[in-house]
Amino acid sequence: MTARPARLGLYIHWPYCARICPYCDFNVYKAAHAQPEALLDAMLADLALWRDRLGARTIHSVHFGGGTPSLMAPAAIAALLETADRLFGLAPGAEIGLEANPMEHERFAGIASAGVERLSLGVQALDDDSLKRLGRDHDARTGLAALEKAQALFRRVSLDLIYARETQTPESWRRELETALGFGTGHMSLYQLTIEPGTAFERKLKRGALTPPPDDAAADMYALTQEVCASAGLPSYEISNHARSEADQSVHNRLYWEGEDWIGIGPGAHSRVGAFAKDGRAGGAAHRRPELYIEGVKSGDGHERERLDADAEFIERLLMGIRLTEAGLDVERLAALTGLRPDADGLARMRAQELVLARGSTLVLTERGRAFADHVAETLIPDFDA
Ligand code: SF4
Repeated sequence: MTARPARLGLYIHWPYCARICPYCDFNVYKAAHAQPEALLDAMLADLALWRDRLGARTIHSVHFGGGTPSLMAPAAIAALLETADRLFGLAPGAEIGLEANPMEHERFAGIASAGVERLSLGVQALDDDSLKRLGRDHDARTGLAALEKAQALFRRVSLDLIYARETQTPESWRRELETALGFGTGHMSLYQLTIEPGTAFERKLKRGALTPPPDDAAADMYALTQEVCASAGLPSYEISNHARSEADQSVHNRLYWEGEDWIGIGPGAHSRVGAFAKDGRAGGAAHRRPELYIEGVKSGDGHERERLDADAEFIERLLMGIRLTEAGLDVERLAALTGLRPDADGLARMRAQELVLARGSTLVLTERGRAFADHVAETLIPDFDA
């Protein structure tokens, strides 16, 4: 199999949020403690260090995540994009995306002028009680007004919602989803609420103060999400992501799921480069605490580095690739890159249980299998010591 050059993405992590949501396990810090100028300087310097390390490469997508990057000054966004373009070159039509909080809607025009063309809007829920329980500082009216504003200003918009929330039923989720679909947005990210270790929600759950819907109701909500979105013309192209057309899909996220290359700047940002190198894949993460990252970059690095061996690379590519509900996981490509194949017995079991099917050299989750993606992926991992 001939290796083609990997595409390169740039992830920019802005770690500050106005307040910390009780379900969030990202690398986030309260904006009240932000050092925005020092962090921007470090990010610009980090870009130059990456350019020295990688040599000439073209960037195919840029994604501002966080945290709340819609809190960034538009001039800071523009400075990062201009520097990335000067040092690397942005491919014609490169995706430039940013995650936004509806509360920052007054900044949207400035963000669009800075060069962002795709906005992912964290509306999260369409009822005020749920938004309160999720610890969000916007109400449903503000969320929807921000959505309309985003759709007027940006070429592409993703509407992001969370379901399987406390007090939610499949019926109430269906109504909410249908209302959301009525806005005609080209992309929706629909995430099932999970209680992550170390979060305020986990502590609440442990003391009996949080009651998520039972597993079967959550599974029903997942199934109806697929059905309602598909019949509205937004089928899933990844477990939690739905798009009206291929042009509406997230180029940057596809780059992760397809195991391409990406560099990350900003506190805690991950990177993977050299996807097709013979001696494994270079991985790493920037220091998580903003002050350590800033100091690290000043001293010439700011990242912890590792080299992923074939086993680690196989697992990562399997876990990510199986999530692509349409494109699926190309087993021959995986074997060409890592020298490893899915466990034959595990694959036979998953096929017999109709959780996965083979289309030529590609494995695709069945509709039922999508609800058990992690289980399927784990079953396909071979025993590397055998
Ligand atoms: S706004 Fe987003 S990143 Fe910030 S704490 Fe809430 S969920 Fe986490």
